[in-house]
Amino acid sequence: MLYEKLTNSKRIFDVSADEAGKIAEGLPTHRDREGAKAWLSIMYGCNNFCSYCVVPYVRGRERSRDISMIEKDFVGLIEAGYKDITLLGQNVNSYGKDVEGSPDFSDLLYRLNAIDGDFKIRFMTSHPKDASEKLINAIAECEKVSKHLHVPFQAGSNRILKQMNRGYTKEKYLSLIAYAKEKIPNLVLTSDVIVGFPGETEEDFLETLDLIQKVRFHALFTFLYSKRPGTKAADMEDNVSKEEKQKRFDRLLLIQNQISKQLHNEYVGKTMRVLIDAFSEDNQFALEGRTDGGRLVHLNGDRSLIGTYQDIKIERSSTWALFGTIDDKQKKPEAL
Ligand code: SF4
Repeated sequence: MLYEKLTNSKRIFDVSADEAGKIAEGLPTHRDREGAKAWLSIMYGCNNFCSYCVVPYVRGRERSRDISMIEKDFVGLIEAGYKDITLLGQNVNSYGKDVEGSPDFSDLLYRLNAIDGDFKIRFMTSHPKDASEKLINAIAECEKVSKHLHVPFQAGSNRILKQMNRGYTKEKYLSLIAYAKEKIPNLVLTSDVIVGFPGETEEDFLETLDLIQKVRFHALFTFLYSKRPGTKAADMEDNVSKEEKQKRFDRLLLIQNQISKQLHNEYVGKTMRVLIDAFSEDNQFALEGRTDGGRLVHLNGDRSLIGTYQDIKIERSSTWALFGTIDDKQKKPEAL
């Protein structure tokens, strides 16, 4: 509609794409071509109603796109030269329930993995409640699917998880992660956590610390709880003081940063296959890239390398990133 308006300069009206449960397919998309990354929505909305989250109220119920439409768009991206494509959905693990034939997310991964080309498939976000062993097996078996799982756990205390209406326990989460680690060598794990949910006690918080120490995530996205009007949690008594929330946040970060630093240090001395995807004249390192597991790599080199895979010898690391140089010996990269 915008395109028509801009090209014809006439008033246009169309409400067909706005019916409940419908997805507007075939919309023209403008993409920034520099870089190798693209994002592709596979579904919209969410049915989960986590008590702190406003998404189901503002984005509506879950609707999945038809698998052949996704495949068509995906092939279009590969043909346009993109090499790192992230499938998007609020909860990709429940993809397909409303699609004819009920394909699930693993079926979609197998189908996209079978497309010709040298590219990586990523996805977000995975809900632990719907992450199945079948999905883990698909990640393990599909060579083009990144060996990276971003599975938000949000809290380590079962009592808080119940209050959050997350639909799993700490034990179930840990057993999913144990299965994934066993099936996928060199798996990179990242997650989201909320600190200071209403009613969170010191004991609850210690459960969260215990979980992050058991899992050892490469990176954590840590949020201080803040009220979202209209959600169930907004009516719960927020009895954790701002100072206490901040103290817990800092304690958690201290532990997580140590883990991230240790895990990144394990890459030093290894040669990794990295997709170069950004250039900046202002930075100390001109180029940025990502490993299969999504680790950020800084290096120096020419802008023309954007969009290419390079074997990078990792020379040092930090809490957040890896630093390396192009390995001119072209040693076979390790699949980290
Ligand atoms: S947190 Fe995620 S899964 Fe939960 S309601 Fe919000 S979008 Fe849905």
